[in-house]
Order: sequence, then structure tokens, then C-alpha cells
Amino acid sequence: VGLKRSVQTRGIILNKRKQGEADDLIILYSPDLGKIRALSKGSRKILSSFCGHLDTLNICQFQLYKTAYRYTITQAVTQNSFKQIRQNFEISVLAALILEIFQKSVSFEEEEQSQELFNLLENSLHLLLKVNNPSLALESFKLNFLELLGILPNMTNCSFCRQFWNESQKIAFNKDGNLICQNCQKPNEFLKNIDLKIIKLIHFLLKGGLERQKLKISKEEQNELQSFINIFLYPYLGSEIHGQKILGLNHF
Ligand SMILES: [Zn+2]
Repeated sequence: VGLKRSVQTRGIILNKRKQGEADDLIILYSPDLGKIRALSKGSRKILSSFCGHLDTLNICQFQLYKTAYRYTITQAVTQNSFKQIRQNFEISVLAALILEIFQKSVSFEEEEQSQELFNLLENSLHLLLKVNNPSLALESFKLNFLELLGILPNMTNCSFCRQFWNESQKIAFNKDGNLICQNCQKPNEFLKNIDLKIIKLIHFLLKGGLERQKLKISKEEQNELQSFINIFLYPYLGSEIHGQKILGLNHF
């Protein structure tokens, strides 16, 4: 007889897939359990008590049954179905992108149980509805996500001489993503310039600036910001992001 136990947890549904005739296989993220697969038996039957509760994006209170092999969902009660996100096409695509990036980057390992990651995910979904430019909320999510995962490079000063940025300097980054001041740049190295304005914007977003303040930036600045962020995100995802195509964001 294997280990069996009942677990209560709050979690968000990242993905849902048909399993056989009547069941679904759910991928959910919970701060207590991390990213897990859970089977919902009979959830595809019309009179299932799961009806409406197990949609992607829902935050639910779950009761799960754990065996040595897997989790089975025994109860799910929706706490937030993000109705306003579902009612807006553009915002719902951005929300799907956030879930997809999260799901692809966070592994099924137990060490990826994190209240901070869960909070970032939940807050970012709320932020999509709060801001005047929701695609900036996506960039803010990506940045803070990369920061939490420890992937983002040092943004405050030169990686080599540690000098802080000033307005007169030309700043560039190399293929490893290290930011380099003008004095430390070598002529034969592959480098791409980055505007100090973009670095300041990154600091603003990392400090949760969008939560408090409206931000107006040009399309060019937003594109530059996005391609910089994606340089760090892309290798981490392992495969292509689908939602990006739907929105015509081709900076991956
Ligand atoms: Zn330097």
C-alpha cells in the first residue's frame, strides 16, 4: 500500500488537457506544492461538480488526494475566475502568455514551491486590468519573474569596472547579457547598445512602478525593452511561445 493523503491548497490552473473520455489532467501551481499535475475524474461529464471550476486561469481552493504516483482533485472551489480578463480579447491573450511563460519556466521540482512566485503571478493578472497599457504589465511580469528566478543580470552598474551609469555613457550588453560601460567595451566583441532610458525603465518595473504610477512610453522604447527582456527569457522557455504570435509580437 502506497502513501495516501488528503491535501488542502490554494492554486491557479495553468493548463488543462483531456484525459480519456471523462477526465481532465490539470497542471496547477500552488505555493505549497509547486507545479503539479492533478487528475480530475469525471470533470468532463455534464453534471460534474467540477463544472466551471477547473478552467485555465481560475484560482481555486483545492482538495487533493495524493498517492505515491499522482494527485487527484477531490474538490475545487473557484475563488477568482478573472471574469474581466476573459471578457477582453487582448487582455486574455496577455494573461495566457503570462501563464504559458510561467508554466514553461517553472519545473515540477519541489524546490520551486514559492509564495513569491505565486504572488507575482496573481498580482500580474490583476495588473493587466489596472494599467492603461496592458502589454507593459506583461513586460513587468517577465522582468520580475526573471529577477525571482535569479536570471536577470546586474542592472545598476558596469559588470566589469562596477562604475555606475551616467547620462553621457554609451552602455552595451554582450551575448551573455552583461551590461558594459563604454570604457570596458572591447572593439571586436559582439555588443548591442542599450539606452540608459531603458535601464531606468527596467528599474521602475522591477520596483513595481506600474502598480502605483501611469507610464507613457513610445512604441520604439517598448520594443527595445521587450527585446532586451526576451534575450533572457527565451533560453529559459525551451520552446516557442504561442500567444506571442497571436498578438503579432514578433520579438522572440
Ligand atoms: Zn566598465
